Amino acid sequence: MKKPKTLNILGAKYRVLYFKDPLEVDPDGREPLFGLCRSTLREIRICSGSSESDQHDALVHEIIHAVIDQCPLLGEIMKKIGEDDHEALVGTLATLLSDTLIRNGLSR
Ligand SMILES: [Zn+2]
Repeated sequence: MKKPKTLNILGAKYRVLYFKDPLEVDPDGREPLFGLCRSTLREIRICSGSSESDQHDALVHEIIHAVIDQCPLLGEIMKKIGEDDHEALVGTLATLLSDTLIRNGLSR
């Protein structure tokens, strides 16, 4: 998997930071995470201690969060469906998009 240091997401430059320890992905160190998107800081944090496949899925997952954060219409829709469904939707989209990218040689 490519490990980009920056990503241009809808015109916004995000830094991508990698941490071996999943606890370090959470800036507060409270819970182990595969990934985290902090759009206000234009930052995506990924656990590099997980498998290549999990890192790929996490990166796609956090990119989807960033896209939603950059798009006011999607932000409004996500507020309506609530946080749990929002996370479930992002997780499902990330898994399906990641699989499609890999099957078509667009990733890895
Ligand atoms: Zn998420």
